[in-house]
Amino acid sequence: MLGPELEAFEREWARLVGVPHAIGVANGMDALSLSLMSSKLEKGSEVITSPVTAAATVLAILRAGLVPVMADVDPGTGLLTPRTVERVLSNKTTAVLLVHLYGQVRGMEEWIQLCQAHQLQLFEDCAQSHLAEENGRSAGSFGLTGSFSFYPTKNLGGIGDSGMVTTQSPEIAENIRLLRNYGQRNRYIHEEIGLNSRLDEIQAAYLRLKLKSLESGNSKRRSVAQRYFNELDNPEIILLSPPSQRRAHVYHQFVVRAKNRDKLAKHLERCGIPSLIHYPTPIHRQPAFSGIVGVKDSLVHSEAFSESVLSIPCHPGMVASEIETVLNALNEFRS
Ligand SMILES: *Cc1c(COP(=O)(O)O)cnc(C)c1O
Repeated sequence: MLGPELEAFEREWARLVGVPHAIGVANGMDALSLSLMSSKLEKGSEVITSPVTAAATVLAILRAGLVPVMADVDPGTGLLTPRTVERVLSNKTTAVLLVHLYGQVRGMEEWIQLCQAHQLQLFEDCAQSHLAEENGRSAGSFGLTGSFSFYPTKNLGGIGDSGMVTTQSPEIAENIRLLRNYGQRNRYIHEEIGLNSRLDEIQAAYLRLKLKSLESGNSKRRSVAQRYFNELDNPEIILLSPPSQRRAHVYHQFVVRAKNRDKLAKHLERCGIPSLIHYPTPIHRQPAFSGIVGVKDSLVHSEAFSESVLSIPCHPGMVASEIETVLNALNEFRS
């Protein structure tokens, strides 16, 4: 049910991100698909995105009746680059959907310029980048929309599914408010083919409470990451490029690369340290997506990324001794 807790949460989130409008929806994938649906891109036109992302990014493009086209990532960050996106532009391209992977926001000025030069809409997948900032501006305030997920594992996580769209555009905001509630503006008058994508009051109330510790949680994640950057010392383990500004990364994940990644994961497991792979299979290699998503250029860096990345523990609850246990295990690893 829509109600006052959600309205308050929307106001708070809009203010934090620095945009006039925030619209609560049922989950992060809906935030992405409603963003694309409300922007009225030509059906069947192409949206360029990254193959190193959650499936939801690409499912949302498909659900909006658009064609996902893959561009390669930078091996140092796992992010798309203007160069790799330019290589797959076509006269059918209408948008770029950037994924602020692992919590990083990078080079936004350049992305805005590229999209202006080619008359493309810019969308941001901010599911992992809550309150990451570049030059004082938050992720989710650069593009036509920012799409957030508050799935329990995200930096701001609920007790179930929910999501949010941020936008500067009053038209997009109004249209998403309509679409999330069966396409009705006034009760029982359906103006568009909408869906049920409401953010519940109980969820909004819980998220408002959790919101109080989001900023401190992000800064704890940054201090864990700083220790990894300072003290990781093993030629077999490669760090990703550090952010150019401290606030430009909120470390939803701390990711390292290793040629013998699977051995490293086993070694950590033996030391009692959990690790995960984000993501083991690039989108274009997934059974459901191969042949459906556009592949027009080599995706060699994305593939190498999937084979070598490992996400190591990095969360606000970590204490010094736990960070040291992880560091010791990583530094003693020999393949
Ligand atoms: C979590 C996530 C999503 C999807 O969010 P849901 O709330 O699970 O639908 C989309 N994109 C990225 C990058 C994510 O990490």
